[in-house]
Amino acid sequence: MVLAELGGKITRALQQMSNVTIIDEKALTECLNEITRALLQSDVSFPLVREMQSNIKKIVNLEDLAAGHNKRRIIEQAIFSELCKMLDPGKPAFAPKKSKPSVVMFVGLQGAGKTTTCTKYAYYHQKKGYKPALVCADTFRAGAFDQLKQNATKARIPFYGRYLKSIPLRRYEILRLSLYQPSSCMLRLSTKCILLFGLDSESEVWFSYTESDPVKIAVEGVDRFKKENCDLIIVDTSGRHKQEATLFEEMRQVAEATKPDLVIFVMDSSIGQAAFDQAQAFKQSVAVGAVIITKMDGHAKGGGALSAVAATKSPVIFIGTGEHMDEFEVFDVKPFVSRLLGMGDWSGFVDKLQEVVPKDQQPELLEKLSQGNFTLRIMYDQFQNILNMGPLKEVFQMLPGFSSEIMPKGHEKESQAKLKRYMTMMDSMTNEELDSSNTKLFNESRMMRIARGSGRIVREVMEMLEEYKKLAKIWGNMKGLKIPKNGDMSAL
Ligand code: GDP
Repeated sequence: MVLAELGGKITRALQQMSNVTIIDEKALTECLNEITRALLQSDVSFPLVREMQSNIKKIVNLEDLAAGHNKRRIIEQAIFSELCKMLDPGKPAFAPKKSKPSVVMFVGLQGAGKTTTCTKYAYYHQKKGYKPALVCADTFRAGAFDQLKQNATKARIPFYGRYLKSIPLRRYEILRLSLYQPSSCMLRLSTKCILLFGLDSESEVWFSYTESDPVKIAVEGVDRFKKENCDLIIVDTSGRHKQEATLFEEMRQVAEATKPDLVIFVMDSSIGQAAFDQAQAFKQSVAVGAVIITKMDGHAKGGGALSAVAATKSPVIFIGTGEHMDEFEVFDVKPFVSRLLGMGDWSGFVDKLQEVVPKDQQPELLEKLSQGNFTLRIMYDQFQNILNMGPLKEVFQMLPGFSSEIMPKGHEKESQAKLKRYMTMMDSMTNEELDSSNTKLFNESRMMRIARGSGRIVREVMEMLEEYKKLAKIWGNMKGLKIPKNGDMSAL
């Protein structure tokens, strides 16, 4: 993610400023100009950056800086809270309820990742116990229904839509279609077909059969899944290569007919500076209530996310981090901004550490964090901490990843059981395995040995190693953390 570049640039600007002996208006302006440049290069829109700059100037009190307080921390905090403000429109997005059917409509330009994201969204909710269903109202892109059908089948999610392909039909079927469905079918008989018409009624002819009315398909799908008691009906709509009146009119009509509880605008993170205008154009046509940013795994600079929120005044609820179904993350403003600034969720994490970890244990924990080399043994120790010390659980919930992966809210009991299961498997590992951070070490025979030793199955060992990889990635972000002398974390 090129967002790391932005974090790096901001960190350097702050570092330069904390090296200056006298912090005056000039030094602060220079530092903010550096940060402004970094934000613009990351595709945050210009008016937003300008507003942020003036807000930071208002928040940062030069007298505090002159009095020798930790300058870097003060400014970092100001930037942190301004970026959070930018990404937090102040009202949460509509959350579907299991008790009543909700309709969620997806909109966005072609190629933004709508169809892929619809399935990811459905799959995510299915895992949370919802009964989702997918409706393909994209009659513009020929392969859209096939793609949705394929993804939905893989995830075992019911779907509804129509083919846009040429299909073989017999002559009597053509006549029947044109007699009984003249409004919904657009029969395009090719010259070849007409020539073939002279053949007997069993002759097979090819013709193009198009259900061209996305509104009709959307309504049919929504009605059908409501009857089937699905509680989350997701409608995928058409996109176009660029914004155009027909796209917005179609979107408006589908929204009017299906009355969605939530319209999600899907935006490709690589869109850059155009993000603000694009998001605003969609918002003006339909009542966008949430944003999903896709392809955050690529080379996108990511600043467009901030612009889209500002333009739609709607929160980002998820980000897409790959083409696969589970490469989809809940978007939390604070951890995101922390990562953006290369901080981890330090604001909350450090405060919490000070609160709950005895002072003499703080340096050791920070030392491990700063090394960034997350071995299975460290994971074991941290699981033990979580299980033994109770309050430490709150500390680790501050770290992005630990909260959602290890201890999701409301599932503490299951999470504890999971940790214990993982620890039993790790008890069957050799020292070499525990001290390694390379999962390639775990070949089939090692995994079988661990499974046998812990009374588990190989799939569970694989699942534990996958979980470890995710945590190691997050832990890796902590690398390079400065260790405060004598454990005084207020100096961070
Ligand atoms: P639509 O035209 O908006 O429905 O877009 P699609 O869902 O067909 O996606 C367009 C392309 O983007 C496909 O090749 C997807 O696999 C890919 N894609 C979608 N989301 C992501 C993502 O989060 N990361 C990556 N790397 N690719 C994605």
